[in-house]
Amino acid sequence: MATLRDTARQTLEQLGVAASMLDGGGLAVRSPVNGETIAHVAETPASGASAAVAVAHQAASAWRNVPAPHRGELVRLLGDELRAAKDALGRLVSIEAGKSPSEGLGEVQEMIDICDFAVGLSRQLYGKTIATERAEHRMMETWHPLGVVGIISAFNFPVAVWAWNAALALVCGNAIVWKPSEKTPLTAMASHAVLERALERFASAPKGLSQLLIGGREIGEAMVDDPRVAAVSATGSTAMGRVVGQRLAARFARSILELGGNNAAIVTPSADLDLALRGVAFAAMGTAGQRCTTLRRLFVHRSIHDSFVTRLKAAYDSVTVGNPLDGHLVGPLIDSDSYHRMRSALDSAATCGGRVHGGTRVVVEGCEGGYYVRPALVEMTSQIGPVREETFAPILYVMAYDNFADAIALQNDVPQGLSSSVFTNDMREAELFVSASGSDCGIANVNIGTSGAEIGGAFGGEKETGGGRESGSDAWQGYMRRATNTINYGRNLPLAQGVTFDVG
Ligand code: NAD
Repeated sequence: MATLRDTARQTLEQLGVAASMLDGGGLAVRSPVNGETIAHVAETPASGASAAVAVAHQAASAWRNVPAPHRGELVRLLGDELRAAKDALGRLVSIEAGKSPSEGLGEVQEMIDICDFAVGLSRQLYGKTIATERAEHRMMETWHPLGVVGIISAFNFPVAVWAWNAALALVCGNAIVWKPSEKTPLTAMASHAVLERALERFASAPKGLSQLLIGGREIGEAMVDDPRVAAVSATGSTAMGRVVGQRLAARFARSILELGGNNAAIVTPSADLDLALRGVAFAAMGTAGQRCTTLRRLFVHRSIHDSFVTRLKAAYDSVTVGNPLDGHLVGPLIDSDSYHRMRSALDSAATCGGRVHGGTRVVVEGCEGGYYVRPALVEMTSQIGPVREETFAPILYVMAYDNFADAIALQNDVPQGLSSSVFTNDMREAELFVSASGSDCGIANVNIGTSGAEIGGAFGGEKETGGGRESGSDAWQGYMRRATNTINYGRNLPLAQGVTFDVG
């Protein structure tokens, strides 16, 4: 029977990654599904960042002059190639990141969706024409490429986050340099091979338009510090963003920071409780709690708290934990560190008076090297200790509330600000939640959970989540620079604000 390693390597070959690139390197890649080592890939040497940025920088100066709709054609080809590669790349995501086949495929679908979006966008990089106070003048905005855009991505969306950034950055006329998570280099190498095929089909692409750096923090920092990199879109923990954001700020480079969340939902007495239960269960336990938008805090009105928590516990007990490739709903944590962080958060919650349900390790037959856990539900009386932090694992802290305004205040009273939702059929509560006095997060939903965003909206969060926006809406503006142009087509030189300065 084929091992996971065999399947991964065959899939990589099918995707265009040569077998010779999978052995002999210093970076061991293991599957969280069973702990098996799949490959040893070569890390980019420290000097490699500078060399890659130099090539990308050269490519950017040609790419910026290609008309945007033609640039869109490259991204259309990328979408084509991704459609052809969907099954294989989805399978590889499942093996390398431990997602269910449906989630692995969903991640690739998200890549395809953003390509479609970006192709349309390539004809819509609109600037405004602005009324000017001066006669025979015209004022307008033009949007220009930035140059080289760096992309740092996390292990949990190993390829979709790259595509969100890459598709927009490319139609916006930039070259890209990608530093994926050191935990998921294989899906990155495969995605890059897919892009290389699109580039081959697109005859006029400058050489080296997209670069891949394999390795950890050091190579990431080398890219971040390179003055030729105009902007970096960095997705990962708040700890990473704090370092990367400060380094970029030190040289006045642009940052798009997509960092940790500590997402909450409120369940009110008027809610459709069956719907709320399903929404909460998926948001809290899906992807084994390893989405930035995973539901981590739940505020339930005291009048329905006990009955709702009883039903929730039953839902927690009913999910199967096991090999995601065999269809289990809850797959593995990424690694042992992640498991130990989860255990430590649960111990700390218990010390704070929390009642812990679940959270124990599950040994899965045939996958003994994987770190599987039963999702944990923790009843808390207040929002203290680990409740205020993001633990990247399936822990849901549940608290009772008495009045809706207090629930919103509690929801907002954490350092992070990514995603939030309310389950209610009361129009006043729903509207208040999405108003200026409501949720302070970048994402505020009504009657759906905190996770599972579509690409059409701008994605990102406030406060320690970093403030960046990626994906849909006008997020493209983060990948371009805006110039304001004032054009005088008359024979006079009127000055703004009526200022006079007559000479001669
Ligand atoms: P991580 O912060 O450990 O690593 C993320 C990436 O940053 C990796 O590629 C890593 O090598 C790189 N990195 C780390 N330190 C760096 C430095 N000093 N300079 C340059 N690069 C550096 O995160 P992770 O464990 O891979 O992912 C989980 C975290 O990512 C969670 O906090 C999750 O909420 C967050 N996340 C956020 C979003 C979002 O859109 N807001 C999306 C996915 C994941």
